[in-house]
Amino acid sequence: MREIILAKYGEMALKGANRITFEDALLRNIRFRLKHIGKFSYAKAQSTIYIIPETESDEEAGELLAAAMPRLKKIFGIAALARAITCEKDFADISARAVPYLHDALTAAKTFKVEAKRADKAFPMKSPQICAELGGILLEAYPHLTVNVTEPDVTVTVEIRDTNAYVHAAREKGAGGLPVGTAGNAMLLLSGGIDSPVAAYMMAKRGLRISAIHFASPPYTSERALMKVQTLVEKLTPWCGSIAFYVVPFTEIQEVLEKNCPEEFFTILMRRLMMEIAQRISERDSCAAIITGESLGQVASQTIGALACTDAVAHMPVLRPLIGMDKTEIVEIARKIDTFETSILPYEDCCTVFTPRHPKLRPRLDEVEQIQAEVDFAPLVEKAIEGTTKKIYAQHVSESQTF
Ligand code: ATP
Ligand code: MG
Repeated sequence: MREIILAKYGEMALKGANRITFEDALLRNIRFRLKHIGKFSYAKAQSTIYIIPETESDEEAGELLAAAMPRLKKIFGIAALARAITCEKDFADISARAVPYLHDALTAAKTFKVEAKRADKAFPMKSPQICAELGGILLEAYPHLTVNVTEPDVTVTVEIRDTNAYVHAAREKGAGGLPVGTAGNAMLLLSGGIDSPVAAYMMAKRGLRISAIHFASPPYTSERALMKVQTLVEKLTPWCGSIAFYVVPFTEIQEVLEKNCPEEFFTILMRRLMMEIAQRISERDSCAAIITGESLGQVASQTIGALACTDAVAHMPVLRPLIGMDKTEIVEIARKIDTFETSILPYEDCCTVFTPRHPKLRPRLDEVEQIQAEVDFAPLVEKAIEGTTKKIYAQHVSESQTF
């Protein structure tokens, strides 16, 4: 009998027809994330996906599961994960397998308890009896242990399910959220900063498939600055799955802006033009919303007035998941998703190159529109869209290279 992984998705968002869509998307995402590790087969039952390594060797199976676990922890829609041993639905088989299987976990522990989950009510023993009898057998096999039901070092769980029983010692928290793809597609405005990668993570967690668009202004922004943004895209793929990444040549628009518009309006006009281009690319890419990393009041261009001026050109929802968050909270997530160290690399962004000394804190929409109307940006916007490049990032490169 083989060791497998139980990936549990709980009961949320699982009403009616939704459930099938949710399960199919989750299974598709799991297959996609594990395909470079090795061969697995999959089954689903009772709010759980069973991930089964396809190999005859126990040792190889263990290696496959160890490699799969960190990837699975980044897949949205999984609430909890456990490596478990498969047993016959027979108490003698359960206890015979549990003793050697739990060796490492129980030798390292001082206290333990047994929990039983009896999804199959036809199983002849009731849960308290399973706990008491297996507890006794484990105490005999590992006499250094004592039982502690309130705060045990290890909780041994026995699950009696449809076709088999499963025993596991460690339940780990999953990434939570909803499977990527179940909420549709959205276009992230991705700078090289700390905030926008975090915004991608947060919206992917709610089930959006993410495309990303970056505005580059060579030679004001360097090749290395672009490489940094590419690295951020790579680092997002373990959470977001594949990402279509667009790079828009923005130099000419910025130069025309600088030459023709009052300096204090640079940022706001730039944002409006970015929004316009991002929406045009979104339509081609079937994205139904825009995501930004803006947080209220963080900088001059992120006041309510400034946001209103950008939203005025938007005809799709603009999602700003960080709007109410402090920088420290954002940094905490950036560290967790491993984008922080890349984000703080000191390369220039097109926004920083053209930052006005005194940006308008309370821009009035009519005034902004009037200034923008004085320059014919339409042909420049068309040109920027024509010059946009697209590349798909499918897996976190350095991670897949290790296998
Ligand atoms: P970030 O840390 O994401 O760069 P920030 O706090 O530096 O954000 P700004 O530079 O004002 O804030 O950018 C606000 C938002 O505008 C960013 O979160 C991002 O969504 C978008 N943005 C800024 N610069 C670019 C760019 N060069 N390409 C694409 N989107 C951008
Ligand atoms: Mg920035």
